[in-house]
Amino acid sequence: ERARLARLRHTPAVTLDGERIELHANIELPLDAQGAIEAGATGVGLFRSEFLFMNRDGELPGEDEQFAAYRAAVEAMRGMPVTIRTVDVGADKPLDRMSASELRHEHVLNPAMGLRAIRWSLAEPSMFRQQLRAIYRASAFGKVRLLIPMVAHLHEVRQILEAVKKVQQQLNDAGHAYSHVELGVMIEIPAAAVMLPLLLRHVDFVSIGTNDLIQYTLAIDRADEAVAHLYDPWHPAVLQLLASSIGLARAAGKSVSVCGEMAGDPAFTDLLLAMGLRSFSMHPSQIPSVKQRVLRADAGRLATFMPEIMGSEDPRHEAELAFARNKPAR
Ligand code: PEP
Ligand code: MG
Repeated sequence: ERARLARLRHTPAVTLDGERIELHANIELPLDAQGAIEAGATGVGLFRSEFLFMNRDGELPGEDEQFAAYRAAVEAMRGMPVTIRTVDVGADKPLDRMSASELRHEHVLNPAMGLRAIRWSLAEPSMFRQQLRAIYRASAFGKVRLLIPMVAHLHEVRQILEAVKKVQQQLNDAGHAYSHVELGVMIEIPAAAVMLPLLLRHVDFVSIGTNDLIQYTLAIDRADEAVAHLYDPWHPAVLQLLASSIGLARAAGKSVSVCGEMAGDPAFTDLLLAMGLRSFSMHPSQIPSVKQRVLRADAGRLATFMPEIMGSEDPRHEAELAFARNKPAR
């Protein structure tokens, strides 16, 4: 089985009905890009840049250090897209104590609903511009995409666009090269999914973070064991938000991917294909098993089961029945 999965590495991820599927990697440090290549990833769908900021003694990484890290990842991916997410600190990813106090990032009432991710970046504008400059400078060495976590407001998108403009000006003035960088936002807060048509006017792509989207939709802390049994990706409300986000982005001609745990769990591959998803981003180790599912799927036929699944009070059971009927003869 291991050897069979290893052989899959060079097989393109194409469904039985000829749909090409992007299987991208989630990485935490530039060194992980090597594992992504070895697993057969066709790009990095999520570079969690906060890992450059965590577990440090005091000093946070400056522009040059960040630039070196992003450039290393971009060069390792040899022209394949690298989606760099700006820092998503706070909640389950706290900064260490020293840098924390410097950054007004101490104890907060409810970290999951507090000053995290883009909220933190917009509250620390010079830090944010430093990171944007590092990301833009890396774009001179490959295909870089900029991804913003936890967006919930249009004014956040406007502030991001302004910061990008300012940073481009600064790089021009300093004589630093950069190329075109697509801008994307993560759909992790139900508000963003509900108002997606408005967000889509301003961005090039979206990436759905199901880990947080499930947490905020169901009001279940993703790290709290006491309510872990209620954390349910199959919840009809979660499925509605997922299906509508994928459909709206596609209808607007914008690329959409899922980069939460659901994307790397083969139990959800058929469902996400049925919803119209064509780009998945996951831990590199999951790529072979998800690819195996893709190779056996008829995406067009899977889509025909969506109405009965979405109308069911037990969508998981309904999907299992429907997709079992869709299994091609082996
Ligand atoms: C998510 O929320 O699904 C996601 C991919 O981001 P993270 O897990 O880093 O919060
Ligand atoms: Mg998240």
